[in-house]
Amino acid sequence: MGYTRLPIPASMVLPMCFCGDPCKMEKSDEEETYRRRYWMCGNWAFDPPVQAVIRGVPEPLPLCDFEEWIDTEVKPEDRAFLEGCKEFDREMKRRIALRKKEEEERKAKIEERARIAALNKVEREIKLA
Ligand SMILES: [Zn+2]
Repeated sequence: MGYTRLPIPASMVLPMCFCGDPCKMEKSDEEETYRRRYWMCGNWAFDPPVQAVIRGVPEPLPLCDFEEWIDTEVKPEDRAFLEGCKEFDREMKRRIALRKKEEEERKAKIEERARIAALNKVEREIKLA
């Protein structure tokens, strides 16, 4: 899951976190709260550096965990976009499953043909003997 840091519009008052530092505006990428904006303590970063994740280094603890939603609901257009993505995903999975099934059927046919050919060969050899 990722989070996108946003520029703050001039009309918005930047809230201060209880630690005394200003908040930053972020946008959720999670499904339940898709693209909803929220305030987060400027000292807190969700995503640890990729290298740290690869090496299994525990991420440093955030200094504080202040968070506050700005948008209370997912916007209809964002919800529609998300639904579109999910539909696309379902369609891709359906196509992959279909292709896999076709490939299995094709292999089964080839095996069946080889089996019949082998049987025919044995039959011919018996007749010739
Ligand atoms: Zn803070």
